[in-house]
Amino acid sequence: MSKAKASSNPLMDAIVALCKRRGFIFQSSEIYGGYNGFFDFGPLGVELKKNIKDAWWKDMVHRRADIEGLDSSIIMSPKIWVASGHVGGFSDPMVDCKVSKMRYRADQFFFAPVRVNNETIGYISILEDGKMQAEAEAAAEKMKRKGGHQGELGPIELKDYTEADPSEYELIPSPATGEPGSLTPPREFNLMFETKVGALSDSSDVAYLRPETAQGIFANYRNVVDTGRVKIPFGIAQIGKAFRNEITPKNFIFRSREFEQMEIEYFISPEADWEAIHQDWIACCQNWLLSIGLPEEMLGRDVHEKLAHYARACTDITFEFPFGKQELWGIAARSNFDLTQHAEHSGKPMEIFDEAAKKKYIPHVIEPSLGVDRLLLALLTAAYTEDEVGGEKRSLMKFHPRIAPYKVAVLPLLKNKPELVERAHGIYEKLQKRYNTFWDASGAIGRRYRRMDEIGTPWCVTIDFDTIEKDGTVTLRDRDTTEQKRVTEEELYTLLDASLH
Ligand code: ATP
Repeated sequence: MSKAKASSNPLMDAIVALCKRRGFIFQSSEIYGGYNGFFDFGPLGVELKKNIKDAWWKDMVHRRADIEGLDSSIIMSPKIWVASGHVGGFSDPMVDCKVSKMRYRADQFFFAPVRVNNETIGYISILEDGKMQAEAEAAAEKMKRKGGHQGELGPIELKDYTEADPSEYELIPSPATGEPGSLTPPREFNLMFETKVGALSDSSDVAYLRPETAQGIFANYRNVVDTGRVKIPFGIAQIGKAFRNEITPKNFIFRSREFEQMEIEYFISPEADWEAIHQDWIACCQNWLLSIGLPEEMLGRDVHEKLAHYARACTDITFEFPFGKQELWGIAARSNFDLTQHAEHSGKPMEIFDEAAKKKYIPHVIEPSLGVDRLLLALLTAAYTEDEVGGEKRSLMKFHPRIAPYKVAVLPLLKNKPELVERAHGIYEKLQKRYNTFWDASGAIGRRYRRMDEIGTPWCVTIDFDTIEKDGTVTLRDRDTTEQKRVTEEELYTLLDASLH
């Protein structure tokens, strides 16, 4: 028996290394050996994340008359999670290896019988990844060779562990040990983190860390309707932490146990053309991703065929991550399931009076739901570039200026010329009032440029003797092209303002 080995991923390794080296992202609790599924955002990571959230909020809330913002609590009445169905059914199937004590998501763990001349010689297993078919075939070939089997290898038809016949559980090798006989049958595992609220401790005090921000929106829908001046169609947007006790957090910040979401519930009439509105939202989300620098060729669509009973449609915008194409942004048409559930469980009315239609109804929703951390990883992936400048290798992050941690760096050409440093510092102080600006006075200018390239600063401004002795112009260097041109301070502000919208 054997297992196919997961391959290493050079691009992912390079991104993770750069994130640590430059202070974007650290493993949580690193000084204690780390804590699986949790991450800390360092000085540059926190800027990147904040810029992503600010851009989303500006475009989805401030620049739209039909969307209001909200910030609800992370811990809410557990009754909310009963009504929403999370207590009963927010689970993933898991499988345990009794020998290694490792735990896997059963629907992300694949296996296949290996057949030679139609006879099963054993089973291979593999954890989901973009190249698993090829890896599984290689593992089957190896099993045949090692066992000295002659004849034709049958096709490898991978199935996930939830589709295994109970008679196969004993035959499928554990991904941890490579040996069969140690895997449990799949069983459901609720992903909500439990906690206790208050000083008394009995089962009635159990509460949950929210696994999504969306329910906070539904729980406040009545408040927003009653206190605002909203009319159908309208949306409520929220950015905030969500927690899921993922069975196998993986791929760096792609799937973690603590993450942030940016969600909108867009309320529409039950009689509206929901398909058209859903499509409009998909297009709006895609355009927004393009506007902050994700290239179109790395984006895709995944139209769900299997839907929850209340859902009418769901399309994911996918992204080509280094480990394969995966969901980035889910856009679901969810009927009026959530509000109806809350109306029933809370006993509070959830109808809205539609002035235009002169009717009362519980609105339906379209729900675009995006993970901040997942988007951050997509932006890191798209931005990561290696090229050569003057015969020297460089790595740079081609962040869109809106999301770049620093917008501009100010560099006096020489550190030991007080008049240069003073003039440069004056410009730095002015820029700093408007943009996150980096000051770097020491080291060779080429090395200072490289440092800024690597953290994705779109422009460097160098102050040299021409600045102080001639016309006051500064050298503006472009990160991507490395081109330099002389500009006035006024031109500098105009360029920066225009690029940051
Ligand atoms: P998956 O199938 O990947 O577990 P999901 O379909 O359950 O995800 P949703 O509940 O639709 O995910 O969550 C909405 C968005 O929140 C996702 O598109 C993703 O961007 C983000 N997200 C969900 N789970 C995680 C996680 N564990 N870590 C980081 N981001 C997440």
